[in-house]
Amino acid sequence: MLNYAFAQNPASVSPSNFDFHCHSVVSDGLLPPAELARRAAGNGVDLWALTDHDDLGGLDEAAAAAAEAGMGFVTGVEISIEWRDVPIHIVGLGFDPGHAGLAGGLEALRAGRVERARRMSDSLAAAGIPGVFEGAMRYAGNPNLISRAHFARYLVEARIAKDVQTVFQYYLTPGKPGYVDHRWATLEDAVGWIRAAGGVAVVAHPGRYRLLSHKDLRAFLAEFKDCGGEAVEVVCGSHSPDHVLHFARLARFYSFHASRGSDFHGPEESYVDLGRLPGLPEDLKPVWRLLA
Ligand code: AMP
Ligand code: MN
Ligand code: MN
Ligand code: MN
Repeated sequence: MLNYAFAQNPASVSPSNFDFHCHSVVSDGLLPPAELARRAAGNGVDLWALTDHDDLGGLDEAAAAAAEAGMGFVTGVEISIEWRDVPIHIVGLGFDPGHAGLAGGLEALRAGRVERARRMSDSLAAAGIPGVFEGAMRYAGNPNLISRAHFARYLVEARIAKDVQTVFQYYLTPGKPGYVDHRWATLEDAVGWIRAAGGVAVVAHPGRYRLLSHKDLRAFLAEFKDCGGEAVEVVCGSHSPDHVLHFARLARFYSFHASRGSDFHGPEESYVDLGRLPGLPEDLKPVWRLLA
């Protein structure tokens, strides 16, 4: 096991450009962990977390490359949950990656993904698009972590739609042929695993849950806090300036710490590059303070 030096005391770094959300080929990103680390450092990131979906397999490589680049590193993961039937993502930061409870929970989530992918493929076949499971698997850098993003890349290759955005719009979102209901982790499970492993739980990109009304989102945040959740992403790649103001207000109201992350997946697929984000509103408590 590597020595996650900065994961023990990132607060001593007092970062000016932290980025706590991105993906490597271990989930649905396009770059290996070490390349992400070098890109982040090159963009001026001084404290960085890799947060692959439901998998910790990239953390050793990421930590080693971050150390080589002289950049602070924090362990990370983005856990898929559902709450009142709505899929939501919870980022975990600064946990012990060797914790058995967390690893076991994530393993079950990955197994569920393979089963879901087969049902997605069956549903697309019934709609006249065969062979998508096999096609999507060719895009999965990690055969145990298949995501809708891999389906989207294959469906673009198969000329079913012109780009990834269009594939999601017509094939991979609720009500469309490639979307199937799925049981993810519960909120209590995800926050519980993260906390048991010594980490901090963060609500990922709260501006993206269009299936939740404002009232539901507030109920969700209250429940998240009751479970031991401590932070929300306020500045992130998919947030508009209005989102930033809105979630800054909610962070103050619930007394959450604030996180910041690009959600970078790859050079051609992301609007925001690693570390290229506005700063947090100055009065908010940055989440890295909880990681000391
Ligand atoms: P999954 O976890 O398998 O449901 O896949 C979700 C992933 O698909 C997200 O993490 C994004 O990488 C990607 N994704 C979701 N919605 C979109 C979208 N509208 N356009 C592009 N990528 C998307
Ligand atoms: Mn993703
Ligand atoms: Mn997400
Ligand atoms: Mn993400």
